[in-house]
Amino acid sequence: MIEGGCHCGAVRIEVEEAPTAVTDCNCSICRRLGGLWFYPHPRQVRIEGEAATVAYVQGDRTLALHHCQACGCTTHWRSLEAGGGERMGVNARMFDPQVVAAARVRRLDGADTWAYLDD
Ligand SMILES: [Zn+2]
Repeated sequence: MIEGGCHCGAVRIEVEEAPTAVTDCNCSICRRLGGLWFYPHPRQVRIEGEAATVAYVQGDRTLALHHCQACGCTTHWRSLEAGGGERMGVNARMFDPQVVAAARVRRLDGADTWAYLDD
């Protein structure tokens, strides 16, 4: 299990397994946030303090990006699509740097083709 959270500690995240790969996406929001995403099943994730977050929902309203309203760290996203409860993303930057160091960083072309650029 890995444990992490936002900078001020209002949001704490536990995930059952450390990621073997994280995604660096170049879409319009991800490139601004600079997060590194991994996608555990929501059942493998426990979030304390989600009520301390604000959700940002962009144009096509497919997901809600949560950030701590105190320190601003983007912690995770949840799907807003019908049946999307099985999907979420967690920002690996919220954990010990060793978590990112141990993972393969994959570059996703979310801005255009939705292909991984390193395939
Ligand atoms: Zn915070």
